[in-house]
Amino acid sequence: MDDFLNGLTGRIVIPTDLVYNKVRQDYNRAIQQFPIIIDYCRNTGDVANAVCWSRKFHVPIRIRNGGHNYEGYSNGDCTLVIDVSEMNHLFLNKCENLLTVQSGVTNRQVYEFISSKGYPFPGGTCPTVGVGGYTMGGGWGLSCRYLGLGCDSLEELELVNYEGEVVKASRICNADLFWACQGAGGGNFGVVVLMKFRLPPKVKKVTLIEIDYLHVNGKEQEAFLQTWQQWLKDADPKVTLVSRIYNSANDGLAMLVRGVFYGQPEEAEQILKPFLELEGAEYIIDYITFLEAVTIIGSSYPPFEKFNSVSRFVQKEFNKCEISTLVDLIQERPQGSVFVGLSMYAMGGRVSEVGTDETAFFYRNSHYIIWLETVWEEKRFAEENRLWVSQRFPVLASVTMGSYINFPYNKLPDYLEEYYGTHVCRLKGIKEKYDPFNVFTFPQGIGNKEHQLMEPVYSEDSEKFIKYSGDEAYRGFRYVKR
Ligand SMILES: Cc1cc2nc3c(=O)[nH]c(=O)nc-3n(C[C@H](O)[C@H](O)[C@H](O)COP(=O)(O)OP(=O)(O)OC[C@H]3O[C@@H](n4cnc5c(N)ncnc54)[C@H](O)[C@@H]3O)c2cc1C
Repeated sequence: MDDFLNGLTGRIVIPTDLVYNKVRQDYNRAIQQFPIIIDYCRNTGDVANAVCWSRKFHVPIRIRNGGHNYEGYSNGDCTLVIDVSEMNHLFLNKCENLLTVQSGVTNRQVYEFISSKGYPFPGGTCPTVGVGGYTMGGGWGLSCRYLGLGCDSLEELELVNYEGEVVKASRICNADLFWACQGAGGGNFGVVVLMKFRLPPKVKKVTLIEIDYLHVNGKEQEAFLQTWQQWLKDADPKVTLVSRIYNSANDGLAMLVRGVFYGQPEEAEQILKPFLELEGAEYIIDYITFLEAVTIIGSSYPPFEKFNSVSRFVQKEFNKCEISTLVDLIQERPQGSVFVGLSMYAMGGRVSEVGTDETAFFYRNSHYIIWLETVWEEKRFAEENRLWVSQRFPVLASVTMGSYINFPYNKLPDYLEEYYGTHVCRLKGIKEKYDPFNVFTFPQGIGNKEHQLMEPVYSEDSEKFIKYSGDEAYRGFRYVKR
């Protein structure tokens, strides 16, 4: 066993370790996976050793930071998980307004680090999401209409490639790789270890927007969707909102709006008038620091949950009939579901000022991202809930286009085209150039051929037998969940 691990450095966790069962699990607990090794890398050398080790022993790699991928693509059965979450140093160059981070940092770590110095940051809503995964998939956040997507602020990165070597990428150095990592980088080209961001101008305070509508009916949800799409047409780019119609065990049918406005609360009230005038609106519009705002937004997330979901991009105005069809999607919850919802993430503003081909993020001109989700608690209801999403997917797909790689869905047909549109061909070329042996893979990766060197053989849900073809130490290893 020790011989088998020879060459790996970092903090190693294997299935016989007590912590294994905890640390092998990710945010979406509906997906249970059993890697053979989790390597918590502490520096670039550990990452390079892990990449070389995996090639020597033919063990597939997964790259993980925050573990928030909806489909668990940063993890996998019988894989080596290269976990960068312990590489989380941050450095601020105040003179040049540049932030350099190791790739293991989370939204919360970045927010806390820079907002004490007065800067906002175009990060995401969930504090425990990894900034690397977020940025490399594009990065939608509650500042994006004003500050752009997360990937738009990226200036430079360093990754460990398939040979264990460090490769730099920026607009002038390996510009093709840099382009690819602005929207299609997660898990595809190498292990990103360092990222440099240009910071936006400092702000003293922002306006946090929270509007709730409880105990509504389907007709009110239709009116809300109509208001949303009308409002977004010529909304002030200084405001970014997420809105949601939902049906939960706690609230029944309800709706909400959350957002950040880079300006005064009085102006925000004027801008939000169409929402505030809707029947039953209860709201808080608060002028607070950026850190307070993102902390309040982030506090609504549980530490983990079980869910299934699909995302699409909206590039048209829906007619009444289409709105009614969309609202119908969430009128009934599947058995065991405690929450179903349709969320809308506003785009436009700074997001659409960047050209479609300037970064790998393809859907620049969309009005918003729409995301259908169901959450359940007991694992016996998983199949009903997954079926609920897959049955609704064709309806949603018929009026929308593409999918957001940061909100992936494992049943997408033609997933590369769905995620990357006409950028697929260029991305495949970049993949071949920087990862010619397809060392960095996952089920919806750009290399599109999974090397199944090991075949997991499932028994009952709570037990599994892992056959590993590369090393005797793990042959016939039997893992029983604690
Ligand atoms: C509760 C919740 C809220 C979210 N909110 C938002 C939001 O507001 N906006 C938004 O855009 N997205 C959001 N997301 C989606 C999130 O941005 C993506 O899932 C993101 O990829 C997660 O990054 P991670 O590091 O946490 O996850 P991981 O699962 O660790 O990684 C995600 C992907 O990135 C790859 N990756 C991670 N680190 C590296 C690295 N160092 N080098 C190369 N590849 C790497 C992984 O292999 C995987 O493919 C949310 C997700 C959740 C669960």
